[in-house]
Amino acid sequence: MNSIKLIKIGTKILEKNSKFNAALDSELILSNILKITREKLIIYPRKKINKSLENKFNSDIKERKLKKPIAYILGYKEFWKQKFITNPSVLIPRPDTELIIEKVLKNFKKNENKNILDIGTGSGCIILSILLERKKFRGVGIDLSKQAINVAKMNAKMQQFANRIRFINTDIDNFFSYKYDLIVSNPPYIKKSKINNLIEDVKNFEPKLALDGGPDGFSAVLKVIKKSSKLLRKNGMMFLEIDSTQVIKTKEMLIKYKFYTKEVCKDLSGENRCIIAIKL
Ligand code: GLN
Repeated sequence: MNSIKLIKIGTKILEKNSKFNAALDSELILSNILKITREKLIIYPRKKINKSLENKFNSDIKERKLKKPIAYILGYKEFWKQKFITNPSVLIPRPDTELIIEKVLKNFKKNENKNILDIGTGSGCIILSILLERKKFRGVGIDLSKQAINVAKMNAKMQQFANRIRFINTDIDNFFSYKYDLIVSNPPYIKKSKINNLIEDVKNFEPKLALDGGPDGFSAVLKVIKKSSKLLRKNGMMFLEIDSTQVIKTKEMLIKYKFYTKEVCKDLSGENRCIIAIKL
């Protein structure tokens, strides 16, 4: 079997699910198995594939057909400027979340020396991307999930940030610390009753812990705001990802916990996605 034939077979199988991305997914799966770039795979279409790699390819295609997200099959996802190890214990880093990175960079200069906390860090994609861009920042990432913390630690090690970051497995309510200059968070904010409406790739594979915001979608958002009010120094900044429908209520919570809303920012599809607040 050669690579081009195998890609075609994979594409055909995936097209039965959806035409969208079938060929791309098939190419990504094969290049991942061969440990070469997709470009290289395409330049050498007649590369011979042995039986055991062919079997691995067929089994990955089968998983993709069952809607397992491509990031979990490949084991990584690109976010901002780096690759992040990604498995079903962490939410897959999303392009919309890069908005937080953009906004932090706009608000803090290159040489600033700041302490940052990431609440519900998951893969660590937010805080590690910020550390990449701000060499004097130091940080702590916390998460309720032990497995997520393990993934975040692997990412920190792989990207060589281990000396500027600590990852701690704890619930926000049990976390006590000195004060931070900035806090970032992408908490679970989807209403429990809406989880079932999410696409199968998300609802069947991504961790509910990272998605489920409780009966009104605000359980974790409220916890984050409440605790951040204690953990942020005066004039410290919080960058919080939310759903576009949550702006008004989130602003009310921010007022209640002594924050001033500096900016509501829109994501790539023009939806409100991130709130920047300052601790009064
Ligand atoms: N934006 C994510 C989604 O729609 C949800 C992330 C979250 O709850 N923090 O799948």
